[in-house]
Amino acid sequence: MPFEPLTQYPDHLALEEDVLAWWDDEAIFDRLRERNSGGPTFSFMDGPITANNPMGAHHCWGRTLKDVFQRYKAFRGFDQRYQNGFDCQGLWVEVGVERSLGLNSKREIEEYGLAEFNERCKERVAEFAEIITEQCRRLGMWMDWDNDYYTFSDTNIEYIWRFLKECHARGWLYKGHRSVEWCPRCGTSLSQHELINSYEELTHPSLYVRFPIKGREGESLVVWTTTPWTLPANVAAAVKPDAEYGLTGEGDWWAVERKADAAFVRRVRGEELVGLEYEGPFDSLPAQQGVVHRVIPWDDVTLSEGTGIVHIAPGCGKEDFELSRVHDLPVLMPINEAGLFYESYGEFEGRSTEDVEKPVVVELERRGRIVEAGSIIHRYPVCWRCATPLVFRIADDWLIRADEIRQPMLDANATVKWTPDFYSKRMDDWLRNMDDWNISRRRYFGLPLPFYPCNSCGRITVIGSVSELRERATGGLDQLKELHRPWIDEVPIACECGAEVRRIQEVGDAWLDAGIVPFSTLGWQNPEWIERGYATGAAAGLTGADLPDHAYWEKWYPADWVSEMREQIRLWFYSQSFMSVTLTGRSPYKSVLTYEKLLDEHGREMHRSWGNSIDAAEALQNIGGDVIRFMFCEHVPSQNLKFGYAPAGEIRRRLLTLWNSAKFFVDYANIQGFEPGGEAPSELQPLDQWLLERTEQLVAEMTEAYERYWTPALTRSFESFVDDLSNWYIRRSRRRFWAGDEVALWTLWHALVRLVQTIAPVMPFLADFLWRTLRADDAPESVFLQPWPDVRQTDAGLLAEVAEVRRVVELGRQARGDAGLKLRQPLRRLVVQGAGPAQAHADEIAEELRVKEVEFGPVDATELRVKPNLPVLGPKLGKELGAVRAALQAGKFEQLEGGGVRVNGRDFTSDEVIVERGAREGWALAEDHSLTVAVTTELDDELRREGRVYDLTHRLNTMRKEAGLALTDRVQVVVQESDADLLEYEDRIKDEVLATEIVVGKVTEPQITKA
Ligand SMILES: [Zn+2]
Ligand SMILES: [Zn+2]
Repeated sequence: MPFEPLTQYPDHLALEEDVLAWWDDEAIFDRLRERNSGGPTFSFMDGPITANNPMGAHHCWGRTLKDVFQRYKAFRGFDQRYQNGFDCQGLWVEVGVERSLGLNSKREIEEYGLAEFNERCKERVAEFAEIITEQCRRLGMWMDWDNDYYTFSDTNIEYIWRFLKECHARGWLYKGHRSVEWCPRCGTSLSQHELINSYEELTHPSLYVRFPIKGREGESLVVWTTTPWTLPANVAAAVKPDAEYGLTGEGDWWAVERKADAAFVRRVRGEELVGLEYEGPFDSLPAQQGVVHRVIPWDDVTLSEGTGIVHIAPGCGKEDFELSRVHDLPVLMPINEAGLFYESYGEFEGRSTEDVEKPVVVELERRGRIVEAGSIIHRYPVCWRCATPLVFRIADDWLIRADEIRQPMLDANATVKWTPDFYSKRMDDWLRNMDDWNISRRRYFGLPLPFYPCNSCGRITVIGSVSELRERATGGLDQLKELHRPWIDEVPIACECGAEVRRIQEVGDAWLDAGIVPFSTLGWQNPEWIERGYATGAAAGLTGADLPDHAYWEKWYPADWVSEMREQIRLWFYSQSFMSVTLTGRSPYKSVLTYEKLLDEHGREMHRSWGNSIDAAEALQNIGGDVIRFMFCEHVPSQNLKFGYAPAGEIRRRLLTLWNSAKFFVDYANIQGFEPGGEAPSELQPLDQWLLERTEQLVAEMTEAYERYWTPALTRSFESFVDDLSNWYIRRSRRRFWAGDEVALWTLWHALVRLVQTIAPVMPFLADFLWRTLRADDAPESVFLQPWPDVRQTDAGLLAEVAEVRRVVELGRQARGDAGLKLRQPLRRLVVQGAGPAQAHADEIAEELRVKEVEFGPVDATELRVKPNLPVLGPKLGKELGAVRAALQAGKFEQLEGGGVRVNGRDFTSDEVIVERGAREGWALAEDHSLTVAVTTELDDELRREGRVYDLTHRLNTMRKEAGLALTDRVQVVVQESDADLLEYEDRIKDEVLATEIVVGKVTEPQITKA
């Protein structure tokens, strides 16, 4: 049966849709899983993607890497789980729903109703889970799509409850009364890991304000602040005890260092100011009644900005709050959860921190308290979800102590193999610096924290499972449709003291949801396998995932491999590890592949609002899965990736060489009626032997790259092989294909099927398409059902030999190109210096480079050119320079040891002259570190005539193609009279263009007609 002919160019998009439909129709993935079932296991754990939006182009990066290595492991016969995960609750989803409903505060959510709000959140998750699934399929990702895990399932929640109960049992759980970063729009505090990378350049006021010192008429402390809204909550001013402070003629106290040009009338050390009382900026506010404002000492006062005197408002700043504990200062908290002023703040009541900026300044101005008012642009933290600038509030949050788990987590991380390996240190750094884990959020659609503090006895009960909840509940169970608010809030429990207690209202940090999945999805400590047992609560109906039993967990835990972006070090890699080390003392993953950020093709961050972001749907529609995947794979993962249509087009162009090679094979194989399959023929020529070895080398290189999760080596090996295949093997074997040589056809076929298979994990569509075109009848229908080829020892000598020949040829081309001599122009002589095994291939080199003679030996085609180094020699020589320059130009110089030269009896050092090695007149030269190749550039009549013969055959062959002739069609040729002299080479021309006859005619350009 002939091979299906290939079109001139691949239509990637149409081809991919065809392959996708074919995979479905033939259930290729199911058959693959069936084949590998019961084999050795490869455990991959998917980090959940938030089902809150369609995928962005950046999501395709991780999804590509995950699929590449799962496909490779499947080739190797590994049994795998293929479970995809969706992150379903927490702020992402809530804010998405708020926007779609037009709600903009917590009050509005509560008015809308928690039960309804919960339903909308679930609908949103279901909607986007479906969209994401479709996009992943289009990218070529093979997963068990009907059995995803959804982190809002009751089962997932129960597993987190168990973890929290364990933390409580170890005494790690506590309620912190602290100053925290707070988003006034979301109405909740944020955790350490939510703050990194969420800074923006913002413009804020910059105010220098006077605090008049009591009992010292005319003297004031001057403080600097960029947050005027905190001034109504001022209770103290801090100075650096050992710094010098000065009093200006205007009566203002500053740190001397901050006002160096001032003429101070008095100077004291900071400690001498400590204890002074001053008038606060807003003493008349009800909230300020009874507050005594004093100067306090603080070693950390900075002298690099401000005035060296710091305004302290313990209710509005982290360090301020710490100082309030040391100095027993009153804590005034001016704003509520929504960031609005409380009523004890007089005219500011009900206004936002931004709204009070102006009245604060106006009022202080009126009282002559402003020294200077301007503005400042600085980096300021914003909410990672809604971009609202954060403020500080004092809040009661629930935290898990990190100190005891820190070292065990570091130990666990030491067992993990990170790729690239330096990320291991990044993880260590994060672990060494991690604060206690703030796990509570004052929100609605999230993990209900199962904490029941008792007001009567002070005990905190932590519920660890649904059955425990049922046992302890004093009511409300019949309305508990799932473990979410509002229903869970209606189930009080009995405290051990007998009192009825209610759950705290807070929900959990979403990273608890994702961090527990190595337990919740694998059935840790679950006595009996429960079918569809994971599909509980909010996840019911969305997935068919089972809750496996403990034996299954033993089999699949820990994951052999996980892969997520670097940011996940402080997120999923961290939360997973925290929970796993707590529960099992082990790392949840053995190896990690991580990668950096996706930027636009000009290297800017992608933002929807900048109009430069590309979402996954758009990328898949316009670029297609294979090219996107190739782009991610060839990229070094520790660098940011520039994604866009131009780089994609470049890859598509490069991939043409593979297509053209396959098409070349198919065309000639069909002419010959070649039957694929079988073993290597016995009468292999040296070039065939080389290609077989080169193919084995490809298999070895690709296998090694997959084994170490290093995709850039995959695409590099692939491209270098394609280049060897097309630009050496096929190029050098053309005549054999024209003659229908079966040995050459077999060798090329074999190389192509191996190539297609080894790149298949990277480009599954194109690979399977070509496999189906090329495969032997007895081979599996899909490349993915074909076992991975064995890695064989290769003939390193032979490979090195041809590699060197190719280098010589490459340098020869380069030399010709530099001299402006096109490859069709034959040349007289080529000299190669430094070649080893390539010496046995003089004929091939001569043919490839169109030279008459090839010599191996020292290249005597260079000369030294020496020029004066003008900036150095100019001033030194003055008028003499001209003479030296002329002598150098004329070559009248002597080389000295150390790189210098002697000219006109004077010595110059290597710094004083510029020495260049160049080709001598009549030669062109190219070299790399060990090889030098030189060609003569002079042409004689014979060479010129031969050059014209090559031009003519090239032209005729182009005409053949343009006329749409079949490869085997013969032609008659008429050439111009001016080319009559070329008939000296008639036979050669006939051969090259499949001509039956060549005649000279009165034509203005050559003509061909089908014979
Ligand atoms: Zn927010
Ligand atoms: Zn109690």
